[in-house]
Amino acid sequence: MRIIEAVDIRYTYPDGTEALRGINFHAERGEVVALLGPNGAGKSTLFLHFNGILQPTSGKIMIDGEELDYSKSGLIKARQKVGIVFQNPDDQLFAPRVDEDVAFGPLNMGLPEDEVEERVRDALHKVGMLGYESKPPHHLSGGEKKRVAIAGILAMKPDIMVLDEPTSGLDPRGASQILRLLHNLNEEGMTIIISTHDVDLAPLYSDRIYIISDGEIISTGTPSEVFSDIDTIRGANLRLPRIAHLVEILQKEDDLPFEEPYPLTIGEARRKLRNQLR
Ligand code: ADP
Repeated sequence: MRIIEAVDIRYTYPDGTEALRGINFHAERGEVVALLGPNGAGKSTLFLHFNGILQPTSGKIMIDGEELDYSKSGLIKARQKVGIVFQNPDDQLFAPRVDEDVAFGPLNMGLPEDEVEERVRDALHKVGMLGYESKPPHHLSGGEKKRVAIAGILAMKPDIMVLDEPTSGLDPRGASQILRLLHNLNEEGMTIIISTHDVDLAPLYSDRIYIISDGEIISTGTPSEVFSDIDTIRGANLRLPRIAHLVEILQKEDDLPFEEPYPLTIGEARRKLRNQLR
């Protein structure tokens, strides 16, 4: 079941920049889908279409089989189903206290106060930020801000969470905390769509990958399908995951008998090497 779908989306910014040139994209319920592409490829522009912040020049967005309608009530409905976490948490966090920030969405939905309180507590618990309720968001670290921004979206209980470059700018621990959190949310049934230019991370967490380049989807499939077409990857100014690159060098330069497809993660490489050594 396609929970969200972009059908032939074109979008031209008012200054004439053609950012999206006929994008077809979907996520099945419960999937983790990564949109992988270099800077300027159109990832943020596409994401802003998923809950109607941008309206396509042509094409349509389908949510749960229904075409997104851009009336006020249609947009409210879309935004309850699809939560977007922006790349920069400073674009999302503006209340003076963490708990007020997380409460903003549910209060706006008109929920009763005790329900809002419960949702705020629940969301902060899920992202590991209980105890930070009274802190001003601007005093938090980058990773903490990101987690509070995610809590603010979680508190609205969306079916789909869309995250624009969720690990960019974070240190390795902050990034792995976010990835673990997203993994847990997905285990609980949330559909997750992530944009990234990080080819090392994408195969670790995604069921399916789309490669976007210059406003067009140029490849899609499982991580191993997508990365088996090295020419397309390089043509999009991306590269193989480092671990795959290492195995490629060992095979081509040192004649070690590895078979393609190359492993994309440390786990896959370990299995392959152990088999090889036996
Ligand atoms: P990505 O998220 O993959 O880095 P973007 O969606 O931000 O890519 O940008 C896609 C293209 O649209 C780029 O050429 C970018 O310069 C252009 N663009 C983005 N935002 C605007 C804007 N507000 N006005 C005009 N052009 C824009």
